[in-house]
Amino acid sequence: MKTICIIGGGFSGTITAIHLLQKSSVVTVKLINHTYPLVKGVAYSTLRREHLLNVPAGKMSAFAADPAHFTNWVMAKPEYSEFHSPSIAHAFLPRMIYGKYLDELSALHLKNERLEIIPSKAVDVKFSNGKYTVNTESHTTESDFLVLATGNFQPAPPKLQNPSALSSINYFSNPWTNDFIERLQPDESVLLIGSGLTMVDYVLSMTAAGFKGKIYSVSPRGYLPEGHSEQVAAYPDFLGELRGKSLQLVFSSIIAHVQKAMEQNIPWQAVIDSVRPHAKTVWMGFSRKDKQQFISHVRHIWGVARHRLPVDAHKKIRELMQAGQLEVIGGRLQALAGMNDSLEASIKLRKVQDVRTIKVSKIVNCTGPQINFNELNEPLVKSLLRQDLIAADELKMGIRALPSGNALNSKAEPVPRLYAVGSLLRGLMWETTAVPDLRVNAENVAAQIIGSID
Ligand SMILES: Cc1cc2nc3c(=O)[nH]c(=O)nc-3n(C[C@H](O)[C@H](O)[C@H](O)COP(=O)(O)OP(=O)(O)OC[C@H]3O[C@@H](n4cnc5c(N)ncnc54)[C@H](O)[C@@H]3O)c2cc1C
Repeated sequence: MKTICIIGGGFSGTITAIHLLQKSSVVTVKLINHTYPLVKGVAYSTLRREHLLNVPAGKMSAFAADPAHFTNWVMAKPEYSEFHSPSIAHAFLPRMIYGKYLDELSALHLKNERLEIIPSKAVDVKFSNGKYTVNTESHTTESDFLVLATGNFQPAPPKLQNPSALSSINYFSNPWTNDFIERLQPDESVLLIGSGLTMVDYVLSMTAAGFKGKIYSVSPRGYLPEGHSEQVAAYPDFLGELRGKSLQLVFSSIIAHVQKAMEQNIPWQAVIDSVRPHAKTVWMGFSRKDKQQFISHVRHIWGVARHRLPVDAHKKIRELMQAGQLEVIGGRLQALAGMNDSLEASIKLRKVQDVRTIKVSKIVNCTGPQINFNELNEPLVKSLLRQDLIAADELKMGIRALPSGNALNSKAEPVPRLYAVGSLLRGLMWETTAVPDLRVNAENVAAQIIGSID
């Protein structure tokens, strides 16, 4: 028997555990998880019905080999009859329904005497004599293999001229708790830092709760996510034109295909959807310089085109903007003054060399998960970095690793029997944040581990 310890029991860690237990009878698994519910993690533990999946149901099966697993599950549930339709694969269902699917999945697959679930926070790892010792806040456990599946860390704090202002009780650093909505007054003014999907979740929750006040959103470019198309359409795959090509050629090729699609009345979204499954291959073919150029100049455009909103959510956001209740500002929050119910936020505007000051009662950090491992204030990450068991990715996105998921140290040497799954591999693979990628990632890491035992 070999023991595999997985740190992080969100979607990535739990699906890795399921594959390990299903495909090998000679492994025992220890799954360490804290803070968010097992398997559902941050994304699918929401109880708010207005929080929708941003990936169509047909792509959300937990298992790549059984693409209709999720939609079949929904279709078999009378309580979800409102979603029963021949076009369910294209629908954007509430994330809480996906959470129920994952709950059932884990109840079915995790009742296993070879699995131990440790509900505690891992804070330190040691590697000696070929064994990993993981210390959590309440346990010490040993294993032959270690899998890091730590997922979404809290957003990085904004870089302010006066960081001490972030200690205000009206600044909310973690967007994934209910504190803010519970303390919201119906007509105050609120600033959401960030203008991506988390910001949209907030705006939808606030307005669903009857909020009538002004909502500001600030992000460096002031871009909003685009919407999915109402028209269901597919565009032919053109990976052959993209594989191994430079950023410039890839960019021009995608633009040319968008033009061609629009001439044929095919929505541009279909072109992005045809590139999306190959993003990892295209990214891995870029030179380091191209990757840096992409991050500096193209990432935001790709982000709004790729992280799209369900049609109704997109409409609602546009209506709120037209009505003036939501205003998206392109710029950077640079300072905060005042500590109590009235905060003055100074924003350095992007287009004009000017600073705009707005008065708000509450501020929420919606900038998305922190992925720069050198800046994370997490004991586990610091312990792993200190011992050179992991090294921060040079693009500041996750950790260094081989395509197999095997972690690399700072000398680019594979670390024995230490693997990563999920968003830790962002620098290596770029697209490792959504279920269609994570399910493959988890299965591959499980196969690598089992292959190295046999
Ligand atoms: C708000 C939101 C909405 C999203 N919507 C979608 C969507 O519609 N479709 C889609 O495909 N993707 C969506 N995503 C992406 C989503 O992150 C992934 O689909 C998936 O849930 C990620 O799972 P994970 O296990 O990698 O990370 P997580 O879900 O973050 O799970 C990681 C787990 O590890 C735990 N952990 C971390 N460190 C430790 C430690 N030291 N010790 C013990 N436990 C630890 C965490 O507390 C957490 O429970 C969304 C993400 C967010 C944030």
